[in-house]
Amino acid sequence: ERERDTHTHTHTHTHTHTHTHTQRERKCHVEQNKNVCVGANILLLTQAFRRKFIIPDFEAFASNINQLYYSTQRQVGGHVADYIPQLAKFSPDLWGVSLCTVDGQRHSAGDTKVPFCLQSCVKPLEYAIAVHEIGTEHVHRYVGKEPSGLKFNQLSLDEEDKPHNPMVNAGAIVISSLLKVRGFLGVMEYLKKMAGTEYVGFSNATFQSEKETGDRNFAIGYYLKEKKCFPKNADMIAALDFYFQLCSIEVTCESGSVMAATLANGGICPITGEQVLSAEAVRNTLSLMHSCGMYDFSGQFAFHVGLPAKSGVSGAVLLVVPNVMGIMCWSPPLDRVGNSVRGIHFCQELVSLFNFHNYDNLRHFARKLDPRRQSLDDRNKSVVNLMFAAYSGDVSALRRFALSAVDMEEKDYDSRTALHVFFLAAHIFLCVIRWGNTPLDDARQFGWDGVVSVLTEYQRLYPRSSESETEDQRKLDTLKVVV
Ligand code: GLU
Repeated sequence: ERERDTHTHTHTHTHTHTHTHTQRERKCHVEQNKNVCVGANILLLTQAFRRKFIIPDFEAFASNINQLYYSTQRQVGGHVADYIPQLAKFSPDLWGVSLCTVDGQRHSAGDTKVPFCLQSCVKPLEYAIAVHEIGTEHVHRYVGKEPSGLKFNQLSLDEEDKPHNPMVNAGAIVISSLLKVRGFLGVMEYLKKMAGTEYVGFSNATFQSEKETGDRNFAIGYYLKEKKCFPKNADMIAALDFYFQLCSIEVTCESGSVMAATLANGGICPITGEQVLSAEAVRNTLSLMHSCGMYDFSGQFAFHVGLPAKSGVSGAVLLVVPNVMGIMCWSPPLDRVGNSVRGIHFCQELVSLFNFHNYDNLRHFARKLDPRRQSLDDRNKSVVNLMFAAYSGDVSALRRFALSAVDMEEKDYDSRTALHVFFLAAHIFLCVIRWGNTPLDDARQFGWDGVVSVLTEYQRLYPRSSESETEDQRKLDTLKVVV
């Protein structure tokens, strides 16, 4: 029964949620103002018409993602976190994955509209905001950049008496104290912008429970205070409070995937076009997610998956494919180190199907799919369309192709360009070589006596020389402009 439920659910999602839309588009729809709409979205529209999206065949890509979704759904191990009732209440069957590309193309499968707390997934986000606001140098006066090799909530500091990195609790607590001046609403505003104004909520119940059960974090706080890890005049308890609040911020897979996409897109939210974070803040964040984001599995994750990611005790995995897309996986059952069982499985499967691993070779190995490439089939279709338009002298179709950035120099299997076909079909001559044939050879072969005599006369008047070939090339270019 559940299987079928999820299927229908996902199915509808596939239909209703595989789309490319932006906030601006929706707004425009309401405003009913065509000029504003086209003006604001001209880049997106141009890209759409030119099929210049980072994933040209998005439908095929989305259907591959659905398959990964279903195969991952069968992974049943793990335990839902139960140290607070707000986490324990989630069914182990919950499983959702959403993605958003750097162009704002979206796809979702499963339970992607259910709110859950970011928990440790907020750590890279608060670090990014801190670097954006106060700079790399300032932030790293208080926190290191090295994997700790220890549990995320260990009472330990590096040899300079700083927390090892921003992805462990000690680091995130110190960064919370740096960010405290911006206030909870200040941070929320950043997160909301990263999510393209989609769902970002707050669970007060989780916040209260985290505070009540957070003895270890209090211990870390006192330890940090003793070792003078906080900035001068910082209030340690207030920093802890702030840390608990940040952990209790809620997203859905859908809104979380937009946040991840903002990280994939150099800090610019792909669905609003707003620059939310500096490129430097984002690059730092991705580097640290890559080396420290997945608890005590970080090294193995970097090895097997090769992508920056951060997981949280709620079962969330925020995954970034830099320059391509952001992904939010969510499924509450956790493995022994605290990572979502389905989240990890999905990431691994994703990278064994597609060449997204940071060190996959994109040029020589075709064993994995490269969804960033246009398929040969698509290319062939566009050449056939081009040739037919040329053959039938359909100049307006040719203009349309030229405007939509079809490569007008594409050749068919006979190595003929559209221009060649166009002029041959129109019985107009041109010195274009096809299989070593000049148009004169072709004209003779097809018995176009008129063309043969014009060409012969032309050749008599203008004997071929290397100069005249250049001249022919010039005429050819002029004709291209005319087309
Ligand atoms: N609230 C949790 C803690 O600080 C976060 C745990 C996590 O997601 O790693 O212990």
